[in-house]
Formats: sequence, C-alpha cells, structure tokens
Amino acid sequence: MTTPLNASPSLAALRHAVLVSTKSMNTHRILERAGLRPTFPRVLVLEFFQAHAHEHLAAEAVYVRLNEDSRNMSLATVYRVLAQLVDGRLLSNVAFGDGRTVYELNDGNPHDHIVCNACGGVHEFFDAEIEARQQAVAEQFEFAVSGRRLVLFGLCVNCRKSSASVRRTIRK
Ligand SMILES: [Zn+2]
Ligand SMILES: [Zn+2]
Repeated sequence: MTTPLNASPSLAALRHAVLVSTKSMNTHRILERAGLRPTFPRVLVLEFFQAHAHEHLAAEAVYVRLNEDSRNMSLATVYRVLAQLVDGRLLSNVAFGDGRTVYELNDGNPHDHIVCNACGGVHEFFDAEIEARQQAVAEQFEFAVSGRRLVLFGLCVNCRKSSASVRRTIRK
C-alpha cells in the first residue's frame, strides 16, 4: 500500500476498522480453537460476553441487550449459541435453583456465587480453603474434576434491611 497519508479519507476510521477486525480475528481464533466454526451469531455472542466479563446474564437478558444494538437475533438462536459456547467451554452456565440459569464468560478463574433470593443480585467469591477442600475430596474419590457448582442462597444486606423495615411497619 503506497497511499499517501494526506490522501487517506480518515486515518482514524482506518485504524478503528483495523482494531475491530483484529478483535474479530481473535474471536474467530478462540472459536476455532474450541472446535466451533466462527459463525456471525457465535462471534457476536462471544464478543458480547467478552465486553461484559463479570456479568451473569440469563438468555433472555442477552437477547434483549444484543437487540438493543439493533442486531437481529432470535431468542431461539441466542439459546442455541449459548449452549454451543458452553459446550466449547468458552462460557459457563450456573443454575440458581430459582429456575434461573445464567451465563458468564469462562475466563478460567474458578469462583463460587452468592445469590440473593429477593433482588436476584449475584456476587462472586473465591475462598482458598473451599478450593483446597474440593480438591481434597476429588482426590479422595480419585476424581478428575471437570466442573464445579457452589451457590449460596439467601438475602443480601439491603434486602434484609428492607424486609426488617416491612416487618416493623406491619407490627405498628
Ligand atoms: Zn437482595
Ligand atoms: Zn461468576
């Protein structure tokens, strides 16, 4: 390419296009390494989770948020792609007992979840002792661990405060 710099329509736009395509190239490679053909919906959903790395989202929420950016993807496609990305271990899914299954980016860092039954808030935690105990149990059973689920349920501090104030009001 010998286009002189001053003849370029917009160097910034060009640089942006290069950045975007580099990002998609990486996503393509990640998908291929996971044994998945990099189709448009797969690239889109994976990039969405890469941009929201610490969020736990139900399929419906992913569907709504993808279509906010005027990308037309049916809920059925979202479900299908989510399942494929979980199979490829690029995403993880966590069932929260209340019938809710959420998806998150699988960044390879093990962690557990604590979930509020009232507001649905999700927090992540990592506890080295729990980790070591799980490892010890697996070894005891001569188990090669391929997955793990530990979810604590209850009421978060804010919901406990508001339910306490509701009780006080009722008592009056
Ligand atoms: Zn709560
Ligand atoms: Zn998580």
